[in-house]
Amino acid sequence: MHKLYELKKVKKILIATNNPGKFRELKEILPKKIRYLKPKDFNLNEPVENGKTFKENAKIKSVFAAKKSGLICISDDSGLEVDALDKKPGIFSARWAGKTKNFDIAIKKIFNLLNKIKKLNSKARFICAISIAFPNGKSFEFQGKVEGKISFPARGKKGFGYDPIFIAKGKKITFAQMNKKEKNLISHRFDAFKKIKKYFKFS
Ligand code: IMP
Repeated sequence: MHKLYELKKVKKILIATNNPGKFRELKEILPKKIRYLKPKDFNLNEPVENGKTFKENAKIKSVFAAKKSGLICISDDSGLEVDALDKKPGIFSARWAGKTKNFDIAIKKIFNLLNKIKKLNSKARFICAISIAFPNGKSFEFQGKVEGKISFPARGKKGFGYDPIFIAKGKKITFAQMNKKEKNLISHRFDAFKKIKKYFKFS
């Protein structure tokens, strides 16, 4: 039996992300009685994400924020793996949208690459690594996923990032057409959180 960490007395957690979509979804998944803070509440800048895996990048972000803020921090490193593109964009999912974080550009790039090889409905999955770090530098990482496929044209206005072109296995609509509850029940983020709950007791 692994150790169960009790976090019953924790009142505040810093969610170490500047991505509003991630912040919103993490907050919806995490226990309601905790107050969630943002990096800008501490004037934190972003560390360099030079990890080679989702877990490594999640750890870099949470450990950095926990040391700087003195709070327990949760971070999320996530992305889309497209099988026909050798699992790209993967950990570079945010970077494919460029400095302006324009996901129309990233989605167009995926369309062009898949169209060239006639695999517009490639198998794909979203991966999410969540890291929970403590001010003493200790951290724990958990990874979740949701399998599915790419679908063009982009459909839906909800969600964020690549949601308009991703259909989860067994579903007929994209993540961007789902309401938040529906996405949260099957998402890679929720899958990672289910694993956290085996190690951390929040209430
Ligand atoms: P990073 O973890 O900050 O490197 O960014 C991950 C990127 O992956 C995000 O900016 C999104 O583009 C994409 N991504 C991660 N999770 C989701 C999701 O739930 N829906 C759509 N796109 C996502």
